[in-house]
Amino acid sequence: MKNSDASGKHNRAWRIYQRVRGVGIRRQLVLGFTVFVLICLLIVWFFQVFMLDYIYEKTKLSELDDVLSGIEMNINNPELDDFCSDLAVSHDVCISIYEVDQGSLGGRIVSKDVSPTCIIHYVDEQTLDSYCEQTIRSGGSWTKRYSLRRKSSDHMGEQDIVPEVEKIEDDNKAKGRRVVVAVSSRILENDYGDQFAVFINICFTPVSAIHQTRTMQFAYITFGMVTAAAMFAWYFSKKISKPLERMTVAAEQVACGDLSQTFKEEGYLETRRLAKTLNYAVKEISKTDNLRKELIANVSHDLRTPLTLIAGYAEMMRDIPGENTPENSQHIIDESRRLSSLVNDMLDYSKYSSGILLPDFTVFNFTQSIRSTMNRYSELLKKEGFYIEFKYSEEIFVKADESMILQVIYNLLSNAINYTGEDKTVLIEQELKDGKVRLSVTDTGVGIAPEDIPFIWDRYYKVDKTHRRATAGSGLGLSIVRALLQLHSASFGVESTRDVGSSFWFELDVFEQ
Ligand code: ADP
Repeated sequence: MKNSDASGKHNRAWRIYQRVRGVGIRRQLVLGFTVFVLICLLIVWFFQVFMLDYIYEKTKLSELDDVLSGIEMNINNPELDDFCSDLAVSHDVCISIYEVDQGSLGGRIVSKDVSPTCIIHYVDEQTLDSYCEQTIRSGGSWTKRYSLRRKSSDHMGEQDIVPEVEKIEDDNKAKGRRVVVAVSSRILENDYGDQFAVFINICFTPVSAIHQTRTMQFAYITFGMVTAAAMFAWYFSKKISKPLERMTVAAEQVACGDLSQTFKEEGYLETRRLAKTLNYAVKEISKTDNLRKELIANVSHDLRTPLTLIAGYAEMMRDIPGENTPENSQHIIDESRRLSSLVNDMLDYSKYSSGILLPDFTVFNFTQSIRSTMNRYSELLKKEGFYIEFKYSEEIFVKADESMILQVIYNLLSNAINYTGEDKTVLIEQELKDGKVRLSVTDTGVGIAPEDIPFIWDRYYKVDKTHRRATAGSGLGLSIVRALLQLHSASFGVESTRDVGSSFWFELDVFEQ
């Protein structure tokens, strides 16, 4: 029966586990990290490789302007040739400067040929003349771009430069790219009114080696980074999910009824906190479970004993004619009362602690209520030799639920009578303090050990675990007291000394009329 119960629970827990589907932390993190790195690389790739030509061209155009302005400022410089050499090398441009006479080109005064993609040094004189003409026509400044393709060297009259251009062309063609160059010219005048035509040749396309290296580099970087990101994500997700997986297994065991499971407090702060909370929850569940087991054991014992006795006495009285005595009838009556008080206590406790029954606050004479209850009680107990004393200085009124407060006093008084010492005395004392009335019920009994005090208010807690009939209460008296006083937001407590006695107390606000 037990086994089938456990396996049934296990199956149910497994079914719930199976029903929860979705993407795991590990897969999510690996995917997320990889996609993130890919997007970052794509952006870098776009600017560094795809847009390289465009960015390079923009930079070169501003360089071209710088070079032309530099020459313009140094047109009177006797060391113009040296200046142009430096410019050509530092900016990677070819420079040619011609004298201009009546709108046509004269002698060449500067010639700097540093680039393999140079056009101006290899085209014939007519072409250069036409460049000059166009510059004059355009107001002194003219620029033209050339896209170098195979056999597109029409602009280059000289045949010996073709192979070099073609070589570059072939290299780039293999990658489907073109080489873009620009020829820019400007007409300048020196201080003596002499005119000069400045020709600059600049290449707009980064050399293919840079392009190729960049592309290769990016391919390696992309592969490396994506692998690293995936591994990194895998490592972290494992670190996060491992404790969670272990906790899930332990939680499944708990769900199947194994409360001996502990959750390992490991990993990150959140998982450690979760484990701590789960451990606390399991501890609380075990407590409740123990209480439940204890309750079943106690209740079945406490209910069974009076029931057996009642049935036994009744059968005896029925079957044996001489046993039909008033004493035996009294036994039946006593046991029935015990039984009904136990059942009443159980009902009371569930009523008060579940919040179904709320206090009905009314103003009543607190002192008078205690006095009459105590009188009723002491008359009954006088026969058994008990002495109950009530000490008070004045009549006090309070606003509270009278029947609840009387139940509190009744429970405290019953305990005091049950546990008081040989002298069988109980003292009820009413004191006034700072607008509050404090009622204490003091006995001279065995007292309560300090380590038991925090627990006596718990349900079914009994200091003496053995079921001696003399002290066999329901174990609910003080928990009912606590529930009722909490409903009144009243403070309460106990002071107890071993073998001297206990004093249970509570305080209520005095109602000022
Ligand atoms: P019970 O029905 O067992 O008395 P209670 O909830 O009223 O249940 O009390 C809980 C436990 O507290 C008792 O079992 C007893 O051990 C202890 N206790 C209560 N009142 C007294 C007292 N006046 N003197 C000594 N022990 C007490």
